[in-house]
Amino acid sequence: MITVMKFGGTSVGSPEALQRAVGIILNEKNDKIVVVSAMSGITNFLINGVENLPESRETLITEFEKKHVDAAHQLLKDELMDDFMAEFDRRMGSFKALLYDEAASRDPYYIDNITSQGERFSSLILSFALKGSGAKSVALTSEDSGIFAEGRPLMGSANLQKTESMAPLKIKPYIIDGVIPVITGFYGIKNDGLPLTFGRGGSDYSAAVVANAMNADLLEIWTDVDGFMSADPRIIPDAVKIDEMNFSEAAELAYFGAKVLHPRTIEPVRMKHIPLKVRNAFKPEEPGTLIHHLQTPKSRMLKSVALKTDLSIIAISSAEIAFHPDMVARIIERIAENEVVIYSISTSLSTVAFLVHGNDVKSILARLNTLDPEDIERIEVKNDMALVCAVGDNLLSRCGVSADIFSAVKEARANVEMISEGASDVSLNFVVPMSKATDVVKILHGKYARGSDEGL
Ligand code: ADP
Ligand code: ASP
Ligand code: MG
Repeated sequence: MITVMKFGGTSVGSPEALQRAVGIILNEKNDKIVVVSAMSGITNFLINGVENLPESRETLITEFEKKHVDAAHQLLKDELMDDFMAEFDRRMGSFKALLYDEAASRDPYYIDNITSQGERFSSLILSFALKGSGAKSVALTSEDSGIFAEGRPLMGSANLQKTESMAPLKIKPYIIDGVIPVITGFYGIKNDGLPLTFGRGGSDYSAAVVANAMNADLLEIWTDVDGFMSADPRIIPDAVKIDEMNFSEAAELAYFGAKVLHPRTIEPVRMKHIPLKVRNAFKPEEPGTLIHHLQTPKSRMLKSVALKTDLSIIAISSAEIAFHPDMVARIIERIAENEVVIYSISTSLSTVAFLVHGNDVKSILARLNTLDPEDIERIEVKNDMALVCAVGDNLLSRCGVSADIFSAVKEARANVEMISEGASDVSLNFVVPMSKATDVVKILHGKYARGSDEGL
């Protein structure tokens, strides 16, 4: 039996947290494979640094070194510390060389290479801390582990097939020898052997990819909250922990903004029916949330509400567009170039509207301008939109659900700009202005996920 255990930034963010993670790992009875994020704050620090090169170079190196060596000093002694420093200096040597490499800095994937450095060092410290506690362990990079990625800079997808054919060959021998591999999260390697990151929060996805490749029996995501909650606890302080949910529910919520899981974590484990648990690394006694492929127990009308902000609606008007599917196809083709994510589409007789990330609007408009001006009457953009994703049991078949949900929206005095209902049988999504989004979530959550209303 294999358990893949992923530790997030705060769960490896200090010597105390690292020691706690060691305890959790050693407590696991199954064979285990560990996947780690960078220490908290490090990825932001690297992003900031790479944006300000070359001025930032010296401070970047000094502060990065200090943070990791200070943590290691508190965990490791004598010979173990010497061994750690030998490997640390080797890795730091490659990192520094990269920071001074003018030619490499012109590569569009340079930013992936720099921002994935944090994981190379957090995995090293955690692996040595395990050794310090008497376990056998090895720190493996994604290169060492055979985790393959493809796609555009900062937006990689794992190549599951290639990873499945390579990772077991690289990782299994360690497990057979009783050695705990600690693997870098966040990135895989492209065909040319260079790193490509999976988007912010990507270590959850890395861990799911490793679980898939290794045919693991369980994936555990160790983080800083008690489990998957009924809403983001930072917005809704009285959000409650969900005991169980199914893959579809978790996938919708993660995709539409529940930051506790990277948007793409579910697919690699769902494919192989590998159960996933979200657990609190600061309270290992808590059972967390179990996510699996089975139907979950009935809950209140809403199980959880997620919010995705900074979106824009692009509405394209053209005479009787509904009767010209070829034109809709051409528009979608233009918008989807460069793998832009479309969060929702809605059509009327003469308008087709797309919900996209605000950062993509400029490039989409440039591409739409290449369409025949005869075809397009008008393009309107509404910025600062938020998508509310409401997940519950059988939302579509429960009578009156939409009326209840939209009455809550009315209470928040918000205008609904777009609705997507029916595309998924577990969720109802709608778009409101960002300025009203938090109020909508608060009212919705209070009434139907938390309140006395037991559903219909
Ligand atoms: P990690 O560093 O462990 O990956 P993240 O910060 O990426 O942790 O994710 C955990 C955070 O996700 C929580 O602290 C919480 O603020 C946020 N979050 C958003 N939505 C939810 C939700 N529905 N359930 C639990 N946490 C959520
Ligand atoms: N360290 C990366 C980030 O901050 C990946 C992760 O935390 O999952 O985005
Ligand atoms: Mg995360």
